[in-house]
Amino acid sequence: MQLDHFINGAPVPGDLVLERRNPSDTRELVARFPDAGADVVDAAVVAASAAQPAWAAASPEVRADLLEAIATTLFARSAALGELLAREEGKTRAEGTGEVLRAARIFRYFAGEAIRLHGRTLASTRPGVEVRTHHESLGVVGLITPWNFPIAIPAWKAAPALAFGNTVVMKPAETAPAMASALAGIIAECGAPAGVFNLVLGAGGAGAALAAHSGVDGISFTGSQATGQKVVQSTAARRARVQLEMGGKNPLVVLADADLDRAVAIALDGGFFQTGQRCTASSRVIVEDAIHDEFVARLAQRACALNVGHALDPATQVGPANSEAQLARNLDYVGIATGEGGRLVCGGQRLEREHPGWYMAPSLIADTDPAMRINCEEVFGPVVSTIRVHDYDAALSVANAGDFGLSAGIVTNQHDRARHFRRNVRAGMVMVNLPTAGVDYHVPFGGVRGSSHGPREQGFAAFEFYTTMKTVYEAG
Ligand code: NAD
Repeated sequence: MQLDHFINGAPVPGDLVLERRNPSDTRELVARFPDAGADVVDAAVVAASAAQPAWAAASPEVRADLLEAIATTLFARSAALGELLAREEGKTRAEGTGEVLRAARIFRYFAGEAIRLHGRTLASTRPGVEVRTHHESLGVVGLITPWNFPIAIPAWKAAPALAFGNTVVMKPAETAPAMASALAGIIAECGAPAGVFNLVLGAGGAGAALAAHSGVDGISFTGSQATGQKVVQSTAARRARVQLEMGGKNPLVVLADADLDRAVAIALDGGFFQTGQRCTASSRVIVEDAIHDEFVARLAQRACALNVGHALDPATQVGPANSEAQLARNLDYVGIATGEGGRLVCGGQRLEREHPGWYMAPSLIADTDPAMRINCEEVFGPVVSTIRVHDYDAALSVANAGDFGLSAGIVTNQHDRARHFRRNVRAGMVMVNLPTAGVDYHVPFGGVRGSSHGPREQGFAAFEFYTTMKTVYEAG
């Protein structure tokens, strides 16, 4: 595939200086695409600015109809798009198709939200005066997205942006350009007016140019903490609105009373599925002493038995790492953890398969200390560490350590413990007897502390970022 930028309703070609290969078989070239410079980003912002007033003034039904049509198209093409997603990103075909269906449902949800946006009427303290609040669109929004959910994250940013009358310039990750391109094509095909949705392809420089552009009223960013820090500096300098969703080092607490089979299944899913490449992955498992050894043995057995392979092979349970760099990082962290005293229980090595790819064995490292780097820094791969604690209070204290605060889970049958954890763990999302990863598409999503910054994404919370409030006083 040769991909183009998409600006003002038309493809805009550029020099095809970047390429994306299939992580499951690196001989396969998935896409070649351009790297947007500041001039291309500027053209996209100019187009979005020109289109914005009319889009904001359109009936909410017009916007709802567009989102509904996008949803219907995504549902109809979920199999083909799911396959492309698996080839481009490396998650399994089932995971890829599931993600496309999720994106479709997000567009459908926000089709409803477009006509549900409302303000309030308040009693004025002055006789004869009426006070009302209205929500108006923010303006031109820049969406900067990562590779690990290459259609769901663009969907959960673009759908509310469009629903509430904003126009969009999106800059997807450089390792997932084809899915973003497919989405841009569908949005245009479904009737978005020229300039309403624009796509600029490229690497970090294109994202930086978008974040810094004075014509962009708000940036919604999902990615690493390091990049998020740069984005917030850039937007703060020009006082643009910003929303950052970043990484996690999500704890899963397993108490001694837990059903072990259930706890192991939860840890396996949260830690290793989707190759551990989820911001909500359970990368730290904190286990009460009484069941620690048995739990680690059973989790290791299940992790070793996972079938790692080509994303399109129906037998595959865990696909490859997304890139050579991500694989190298995963392996480095195994070395760092064992170097600091962790015990490698399973995995730890690169895997060779029939096709040349970025495969890695699911890896479990036991006997780690909360202060070790493996428990403080995000790896973003199929690498899970366990920490032994003597009781619940120690587990909570370990869970609350560190800089992140995205998702936290507990496995227990004790209602009072679950409730105490829910109230006292420092995380934006809490899972009781569920994996830390895996969220509904229609509810707010986000973290606290170093994981997130700004208003929440998704569900009923999404309008906060994508609208501004106007307070109107009116005397008769
Ligand atoms: P990344 O930070 O490397 O890149 C994210 C995006 O930012 C890409 O489009 C990239 O090109 C762009 N970018 C790079 N440099 C930039 C700059 N200076 N200015 C502006 N944009 C720039 O992240 P990634 O490797 O694509 O994704 C993995 C990370 O995303 C992990 O840390 C993961 O936890 C996080 N993530 C978080 C969530 C969440 O909702 N909390 C969800 C998914 C992924």
